[in-house]
Amino acid sequence: MANSRYEYVRQFESDDRLLPSTWLVVRIDGQGFTKFTAKHGFEKPNDIRALHLMNRAAMTVVEHMTDIVIAYGQSDEYSFVFSKDTQAFDRRASKLTTLLVSQFTSAYVFYWHEHFPDTELLFPPAFDSRVVMYPSERIMRDYLCWRQADCHINNMYNTCFWTLVQRGGLTEKEAERRLRGTLSRDKNELLFSEYGINYNAIENIFKKGSVVIRDRELIDVVDTVGKTSKRSRGVVRTLHCDIIKDAFWASHPEILR
Ligand code: ATP
Ligand code: ATP
Ligand code: MG
Ligand code: MG
Ligand code: MG
Ligand code: MG
Repeated sequence: MANSRYEYVRQFESDDRLLPSTWLVVRIDGQGFTKFTAKHGFEKPNDIRALHLMNRAAMTVVEHMTDIVIAYGQSDEYSFVFSKDTQAFDRRASKLTTLLVSQFTSAYVFYWHEHFPDTELLFPPAFDSRVVMYPSERIMRDYLCWRQADCHINNMYNTCFWTLVQRGGLTEKEAERRLRGTLSRDKNELLFSEYGINYNAIENIFKKGSVVIRDRELIDVVDTVGKTSKRSRGVVRTLHCDIIKDAFWASHPEILR
């Protein structure tokens, strides 16, 4: 095809293929979402509509990129784990990160109005993207533990912070000062004894974040003579469960195979 004397400039492109036999994790994160959430009137600490929109965008990505084995999201971020032997886009880092994040972002905008029917999108949001290789199952699981622990820590802090501001009438500065140096049990105690909030009773989507997996479901199929039979088909599902302890992995051994 194109064979001009300018072709040589292609040699300046570098080979960015990632190592074989490593899990690839693409993590995307909303750019400047502190401002984006304020401008669009997100409820604090957790706007459930926004989490559902993030999950919808993540499911779009998982449906399109079939080598993703699990995805985990919280706040304005999502991590997508590719099977360790994926050959998607020849394992080229720039292709993986850019195609994934642009599809996520366009899905976020595409589905915005389903989740925010009364809120106009004021400007086009952006997400950043990086890819990291993980060489063993233990380290791969620890990565997911790290993100879920981060979700828990931030959610507990934010729940206390916004309770102090919204119900305690503290300014944001005062709330921050009040929480400085407190441990997890102090925060539990503050919520319970001063505001009657049982942290454990808060919805799992806030405490645990969202886990997107592939699953199978049985559906009825009717053949040409009207006979019904069962068929199994793949579905993408969103859960809000613990992925730190062994139980989840014991019941889904295929994910990190
Ligand atoms: P950066 O560009 O460096 O990522 P950022 O402002 O996006 O900057 P983050 O550390 O990514 O910083 O934090 C995400 C911000 O978005 C936090 O302020 C968080 O409270 C807010 N946020 C994300 N999701 C929600 C939500 N569902 N409801 C309310 N606020 C949210
Ligand atoms: P890849 O995913 O590998 O990029 P591709 O199908 O996008 O595959 P390209 O080499 O990028 O392949 O070619 C872009 C295609 O889009 C061509 O078929 C081109 O004719 C078509 N295309 C792009 N812009 C226009 C346009 N403005 N009008 C009509 N066709 C267009
Ligand atoms: Mg950041
Ligand atoms: Mg961000
Ligand atoms: Mg973030
Ligand atoms: Mg193209």
